[in-house]
Amino acid sequence: MNKQVVLGIDIGGTNTVYGLIGQDGHVHHHEEIPTKGSSPVEGLIDRIEASINDILDQNSESELLGIGIGAPNGNHFSGMIQDPPNLSWGNVNVIDLFKDRFNCKVDLTNDANAAALGEKHYGIAKEMTDFVVITLGTGLGSGIFSGGRLLYGHDGFAGEMGHMPIEDDGRDCNCGNKGCLESYASASGIKKTIRTFLDDDPDDEFLNSINGDKVDGFLLDAEFDKGNDIARRIYEYTGNKLGQGLAQAATLLSPQAFIFYGGFSNAGNRILDPAKRSMDRHLINGHAGKIDLLRSGLPQGQAGILGAASLIWAP
Ligand SMILES: [Zn+2]
Repeated sequence: MNKQVVLGIDIGGTNTVYGLIGQDGHVHHHEEIPTKGSSPVEGLIDRIEASINDILDQNSESELLGIGIGAPNGNHFSGMIQDPPNLSWGNVNVIDLFKDRFNCKVDLTNDANAAALGEKHYGIAKEMTDFVVITLGTGLGSGIFSGGRLLYGHDGFAGEMGHMPIEDDGRDCNCGNKGCLESYASASGIKKTIRTFLDDDPDDEFLNSINGDKVDGFLLDAEFDKGNDIARRIYEYTGNKLGQGLAQAATLLSPQAFIFYGGFSNAGNRILDPAKRSMDRHLINGHAGKIDLLRSGLPQGQAGILGAASLIWAP
C-alpha cells in the first residue's frame, strides 16, 4: 500500500463504495456496502470506520492523509448533505461527523461532481477543460467542468441537469416539478416510458413482462441486440429526450464532450446514438457535430471514489 492514502467515499442511495487511494490513483481495498439509508447516518460511518481502522492497523506504515466524500445533495460549501433523496437523514454535517472519528482533513461534494473530478484527474477527461459528466442511474446527475474548473454556482448546487425542464406540463418528477429531463432519461424515466407505451398497447407481451418496480437494463440491452422493436423504440425515445437536454446544456457551455457513467450508461451506443442525433438536431450550426458523447473508461464504481479522493489530493 502507498505510504500516504486518502479515503474516498461515494455514498449512494442504495450502496456506498469506499477505498483507500494513493496520489497516483491506485485504489487499495475497494469495498461496496449497503448504505442502509433508512437508519441514521452514524451507522454507516461506524461500519466504514471499523473496516478502515482494521486495514490501517494491518498496514502500520500507511498514513491516512484525509477523507473525500461524494454524496447525493452533498454541498461542497457547507459540508452538509442536504435532505438527500432515498436517504432519511435530513440535513447532516458529514464533515464534522467524519472529523470527530478520524481526526483528519475531510471534504465533501455531490456524487455527480465527484464522478466529474474522477474523470478529470484519473479518467478520460485528463486533457479536457470543458466537459460534463452525466451519471445515469435511478436518476440523472451531472457535474460540469468549464474553463478547467468544476462549476459550483453561488450556493454549491450548480449542474442539476436532471431537473432541466424539457417538456411543458410533462411527467411528474421526484423533485416536485414536471417535465424534468430525469423523468425521461434515467432508469426511473424508462420505467415511466414503459407505462406510456403500455397505455397505447396494453396487450403487448414484452411490455407487460418488463413493466415492474425495477427496469432490467441487461434484459433490455439483450432484447435490443436481438432486434426487438419495442426495446429499440424505448431506447430511441429515451435517447431523443436525453439529446434534447444535452443540446440545452451544450448551447450554454460549449463542452468538448459529455461523459456517461453509472449503471444505465451500460446501454452505451444503443442509447447514445439516438441521443447524439437528437442533440445535433437541436443545436445551432456552430455547435452541431463538434461534441462527443463518451463513456467513462474508469472501472465501474471507481470514478466516484477517485474523484472524492481528489478533493484531498488535488484541492
Ligand atoms: Zn425534477
